[in-house]
Amino acid sequence: MKKIQMVDLNGQYQSIKEQINSSISQILETTAFINGPEVHAFQKELETYLGVKHVIPCANGTDALQIAMMGLGLEQGDEVITADFTFAATVEVIALLKLTPVLVDVDPDTFNIDPVALEKAITPKTKAIVPVHLFGQCANMDVIMAIAKKHNLFVIEDNAQAIGATHTSADGTKVMAGTIGHVAATSFFPSKNLGCYGDGGAIFTNDDDLAHTLRGIVNHGMYERYHHDVVGVNSRLDSIQAAVLRAKLPKLDAYNNKRRDAARSYSKAFQGQKNIRVPKTVNGCEGICDTCDCHVFHQYTLRIMNGQRDALVQHLGLKGIPCGVYYPIPLHRQKAYLDERYKEADFPVTNQLVKEVISLPMHTELDEEQIEFITQTIIEFIND
Ligand SMILES: *Cc1c(COP(=O)(O)O)cnc(C)c1O
Repeated sequence: MKKIQMVDLNGQYQSIKEQINSSISQILETTAFINGPEVHAFQKELETYLGVKHVIPCANGTDALQIAMMGLGLEQGDEVITADFTFAATVEVIALLKLTPVLVDVDPDTFNIDPVALEKAITPKTKAIVPVHLFGQCANMDVIMAIAKKHNLFVIEDNAQAIGATHTSADGTKVMAGTIGHVAATSFFPSKNLGCYGDGGAIFTNDDDLAHTLRGIVNHGMYERYHHDVVGVNSRLDSIQAAVLRAKLPKLDAYNNKRRDAARSYSKAFQGQKNIRVPKTVNGCEGICDTCDCHVFHQYTLRIMNGQRDALVQHLGLKGIPCGVYYPIPLHRQKAYLDERYKEADFPVTNQLVKEVISLPMHTELDEEQIEFITQTIIEFIND
């Protein structure tokens, strides 16, 4: 059996090596490192793939979130609601811009922001909501968009983990994750579903005016050379990263299918295990139906229900099976984001999840033998 890795970037590289190497050497020859033709070509190709009017490439996913918030003109003291159970980047940029982060609890089945908790947290100061499409599936966007409309709020999708996932509304309309809110941010960090070979990110929007504003902000607030109309930042996707992304974008659906295949094998093996909860999709299909593309499994995350999560992590380590705990500490308990408004009783789900979750190896190169070994090792340990 091949050595099991949490993420196997090398295996994937080997399969696209010729194309990647030749595009990179070409860039080295032309030296168009910044804003070269590759960046523009990638932007257009991603717009087509997503079915969105504007993609604005930038330096990383955290910048993408920050620039999206800057572009919406949010001001000091404005409240921005997001999930307590996510990667810190989401709340970090809110705080960095001197906006007021408001963390709310999540749904125990999807791990995504709980729309009921979200609506309860709205005050006259609330200006925006940042739903995070955690682990690869969209938050409950029908309800979130309705709440946003009712209270006149912006919706900024954090799509760093769900590129390529679809969202089907109650009326049957199906769109790509990241094209539903007013604006969305994504990351091309190497381990993301569409990853480059360094840092990279992008902002998406269907709003022409906002897109124009954002294109200036990423480039020092310039709309005309050496005329700085707004305070901007320097946030660029470089040509080499764009070339890597251009090679991988046409394969993204196939990559996501492989992740779904792995997820399906995992979930099948865990069927009937009362101490193991497999991830649920919004359709309630537990990730094992063959047709559903609503989940792209950035992470495959179990809940261990018998209090043995930490012991399992240790055991897997001894067996040479890598795993991760995303995320071990709720954001409302992180030193940087403590706030006296937060009461423990407001976060029952997140407080529980941080003790139960474990993410298993998930990438495009997993094989059945590895999955069999991983699932059998877990099942034996949990039933011991
Ligand atoms: C990865 C990630 C980000 C940040 O992306 P970077 O490119 O690492 O800055 C933001 N939000 C979520 C949910 C992420 O997973």
